[in-house]
Amino acid sequence: MIIFMGVAGAGKSVQGKLLAEALGYQWLSTGEYLRSNITPERKQEMEAGKLLADAEIFSILEEFFQGMKDQGKTILDGFPRTLSQAKWLHDRYEKGEIIISSVIYLDASQEVVKDRLKSRGRPDDSDEALSRRFEEFEELTLPILDWFKSKGVEVFEIDAEREVEAIHKDILNKVSSER
Ligand code: AMP
Repeated sequence: MIIFMGVAGAGKSVQGKLLAEALGYQWLSTGEYLRSNITPERKQEMEAGKLLADAEIFSILEEFFQGMKDQGKTILDGFPRTLSQAKWLHDRYEKGEIIISSVIYLDASQEVVKDRLKSRGRPDDSDEALSRRFEEFEELTLPILDWFKSKGVEVFEIDAEREVEAIHKDILNKVSSER
């Protein structure tokens, strides 16, 4: 399992899908799942730029795990986003249920991603929602990277301010070097 992390607009989904296609992996995204299974409560929280409760996300992950064809050939996009989500996943790794091959961290500044997001036009890309998502990312999600490193998980930090193709090649090289 390869995990994609990065702030809103860093290119997680674009790059996750490209890598999945290149490697013949399955791509699973919690955000995409939520948008396809929207409820009034979810819509409200998401449009405010809030992270959904861990318990709700865990039940989505359980569903992903049940439907997974080959967990070793899976790209996980948008999870984990909190330390407790990271621990939940790592617990499964320790129990031998999954393999975490690497974490791809797409690193891009707020200025760059704000520009990109303007053209995307999703309802949760309003200025207010974005500020909240950036804040939550720095406070809750970024610390996971060091935590993963402390557990011996390989974390690849990728400069995600470049063109799509250059970033894709870089990611492909990194993951190929360890396979
Ligand atoms: P994304 O498509 O990854 O940008 O996710 C869109 C929105 O879905 C996020 O802003 C959150 O509201 C929600 N979401 C997706 N993944 C998670 C997660 N792992 N934990 C909490 N909320 C999530």
